[in-house]
Amino acid sequence: MEWVAQMFQNLGNTIQALGPADVVSSILDIAVVAYLIYRLMLLVSRTSTANVARAIVLLVVVLWVSELLHLRVINFILGRTLELGFLALVVIFQPELRKGLEQLGNNRLKNLFTKEAETSELDTAITQTVTAYTALSKDRVGALMVFERDILLDDVVRTGTALDCAVEAALLKNLFWNKAPLHDGAVIVRSGRIVGAGCMLPMTASTTLSKDLGMRHRAAVGVSERSDAVVAVVSEETGSISLAVGGSLMQHLAPEKLEQFLRSELMPQQKEEERKAFFLSGLFRSRKGGEGRGEEDETAQ
Ligand code: ATP
Ligand code: MG
Repeated sequence: MEWVAQMFQNLGNTIQALGPADVVSSILDIAVVAYLIYRLMLLVSRTSTANVARAIVLLVVVLWVSELLHLRVINFILGRTLELGFLALVVIFQPELRKGLEQLGNNRLKNLFTKEAETSELDTAITQTVTAYTALSKDRVGALMVFERDILLDDVVRTGTALDCAVEAALLKNLFWNKAPLHDGAVIVRSGRIVGAGCMLPMTASTTLSKDLGMRHRAAVGVSERSDAVVAVVSEETGSISLAVGGSLMQHLAPEKLEQFLRSELMPQQKEEERKAFFLSGLFRSRKGGEGRGEEDETAQ
């Protein structure tokens, strides 16, 4: 028991050696550390992001105050704590960080799927358009379709009736039937979907276009001059199919040619992928052929 008496003796001596200011700052120091430990225990028992955020702010403020008041113990502890702060933050916010990263991944994945869905809708839209245009051309029903690309044609869509539906041959035939309410004007297609019908297009001022071409064809050329849209026309008078791109008009297109142009203009990446696939399959075939010959050689030996 002697050592306990010795310890109290030493403590008494130390307290006597301290000035009154030191005693007050030491008591304050211990009180703040005790309070912080208590708060930390509370925080651990019911952790939430807001609590943790508040605790971090509190730590920084207390560190600053302890610096001002020369509270050495607390300043030392908080200083070390904040040195490891970044690591602690990663650990504390690990669920939130994980959730955020998962969401980021999901959005990326969603974008990927949206892009794929758009490509497949555009693919169907082209097929359906060609089917409808083949019939409309035979029946000499006038048609005007604008395939929007990067430049948005919201102003044009606003001049007609806003729609949101898939491109289907039967629907196109209905829309362009000359007794249908929306047959006058153009159908606008965005990302493979019809977004407007009965829309007014800006007319070209070109004087080089044939005098035989009337308003429908001039409107097709007009919108293709002012935007990057691809515009497909069926002439009511002749049944001829035309395509306007970049202010130029390609006339008298067979349905196969229309499809070919629409695909190369609207889905150039598909063409590129097909070309790559064709090249790779050729390479694979020639390798297989090479290997086959090698095997034959071996069996012949
Ligand atoms: P077609 O060979 O079919 O007769 P065209 O080029 O001779 O075509 P018009 O006979 O003048 O043209 O066709 C008139 C039709 O074109 C209108 O009924 C309307 O549907 C359409 N049209 C005319 N001007 C516009 C415009 N600015 N925007 C959209 N559609 C238009
Ligand atoms: Mg005409």
